[in-house]
Amino acid sequence: MEKIKIGISSCLLGEKVRYDGGHKWDRYITDTLGEYFDWLPVCPEVEYGLTIPRESMHMVGGFDNPRLITTRTGIDHTEGMLEWVKNKLKILEQVDLNGFIFKSRSPSSGIGGVTVYTPSGMPGRKGAGLFGGAFLRRFPLVPAIDDGRLHDPSLRENFIERVFVYKRWKELFRNNATRKDLISFHTKHKLLIMSHSPKHLAALGQLVAGSKIYKQKNLMRQYIELLMEGLQLLATANKNTNVLSHIAGYFKSVLSSDDKMELLEVIKNYHKGYVPLVVPVVLINHYVRTFDQPYLKEQFYLNPHPIELMLRNHV
Ligand code: SF4
Repeated sequence: MEKIKIGISSCLLGEKVRYDGGHKWDRYITDTLGEYFDWLPVCPEVEYGLTIPRESMHMVGGFDNPRLITTRTGIDHTEGMLEWVKNKLKILEQVDLNGFIFKSRSPSSGIGGVTVYTPSGMPGRKGAGLFGGAFLRRFPLVPAIDDGRLHDPSLRENFIERVFVYKRWKELFRNNATRKDLISFHTKHKLLIMSHSPKHLAALGQLVAGSKIYKQKNLMRQYIELLMEGLQLLATANKNTNVLSHIAGYFKSVLSSDDKMELLEVIKNYHKGYVPLVVPVVLINHYVRTFDQPYLKEQFYLNPHPIELMLRNHV
């Protein structure tokens, strides 16, 4: 499989670019995700021109317009950094990014949870860093997460699932997708979308059904915006159970009563939290292969990302 291009805060790869000359190497990122992702490292502070080591910085001032200021000597780097951010975002527009993993809590790279201090030095509200925040505004469809959230199994699974969906979408778009291609894309993602948001599935279904009334470009734009919005909602045990029960219905007439009971029991055990999601999914995939179920074998819900990542072993 060709590796997927993902942006990443350089220090998470082990690059010694932090203010203290250190790094924040995350071995899960390099050793596990690195098998599938091709990294594009970005360190805003070093690329902007600051030295290693350097004085640490924090955000100070109003929540909507905080300044990036060094903590000891009070040097204001806001204007210079904003100029760098503007140019960097233009460069990133030309790169085929399918996601971005940011360093958490950094006043430059963070995408949330960054403390903004009052001018008197008291910790105030939390927001995004200068680069992280600008990236989210410029590329709202690109899946983004920080390293803190990446270690939550549900958020990690959600992020990686979105990366793979977004990549498939871009491939479709690159190949000048027709309305027929969009319908096929939507059909294969139906159960996946249902596991995140039945409401978004219904809205996307309506959009696709009425696709003839939209101009092609508008249709594609509306579809991907709605899709990525829906996928950001977490697939909970209740929502997954709903999808799994729906899938079980496809085998009603082909399974023996013992096998049907076993399948329902496995789904129930998942719902109660006794087994992870991978258990009912493996059993269902076995039946999909055995009975060659044409609709289900195309559903990305049953194979959303490489099994070696073991993302569904923990949710
Ligand atoms: S958090 Fe961002 S700015 Fe700080 S060292 Fe890491 S990549 Fe560079």
